[in-house]
Amino acid sequence: MEITIIHRQDDVIHFLAEGINVSFANALRRTMLTRVPAMAIDEVLVLENTSVMYDEILAHRMGLVPLVTDLESYNLPQDCDCEGKGCSLCQCTLTLEKEAGSEEVVVYSGDLTSQDPKVTVASDKIPLVKLAQNQRLIIEAYARLGTGLENAKFQPVSTVSYKYVPIVEVEESKCTKCEACVEVCPKKIFKINGDVITTQSTLDCSMCEICVQECEPGAITIGSKNDAFLFKVESTGALSPETIVEKASEILKERVRVALDFAGTL
Ligand SMILES: [Zn+2]
Repeated sequence: MEITIIHRQDDVIHFLAEGINVSFANALRRTMLTRVPAMAIDEVLVLENTSVMYDEILAHRMGLVPLVTDLESYNLPQDCDCEGKGCSLCQCTLTLEKEAGSEEVVVYSGDLTSQDPKVTVASDKIPLVKLAQNQRLIIEAYARLGTGLENAKFQPVSTVSYKYVPIVEVEESKCTKCEACVEVCPKKIFKINGDVITTQSTLDCSMCEICVQECEPGAITIGSKNDAFLFKVESTGALSPETIVEKASEILKERVRVALDFAGTL
């Protein structure tokens, strides 16, 4: 598989993966969604909650807050020497203490204080609960690594998708130069070059085929490559998108190796 990064901005990466088939592309997508571990709050100890929100709802909201994940320092609980009981190698404690005085206050994800500076909230602007006058919240929360297989809160990606690489061809002998395709294409991939219609940024093509409908039959053909895919990966902020892709590839490779070893024993 050859990877070319098309665009990278903040937590989103667009890349072209070549030399793979659709099954592999989908396996990679599903691995990113369900097998790459990320930190999330999994246990909450509510010491005081005089807000109007039930403890359970508050705990659920806290579980969904994306946490910056340090995969090097933490083990998955099932792989840890403590056998999942919880220790400093598989668990991180976060605390939250907030009280409203004479004014109501909003408690944000940024009010959570982590014992590990490497495990912090990915965004500090997620509202958790509103406290009315004199209401108070004292909470201890325990975060751990998990995978999307267990619970969607452990998914490190908010979006992971792929599309076929479009091939747009203009048949000059059938083109009447009406320029309708230039007008109707929502992605603006056609342009008039002298008296010839040419294409630009064809990777943007969404294959809607409006141009095919507008033009003379056979003048424009839209096809796709069957061994290349355009991926879009948007991280929740838990891991960088590059790390998610790399980690997913490693996990997929290992799973294939285990499957082949198993097949060899049959
Ligand atoms: Zn442990």
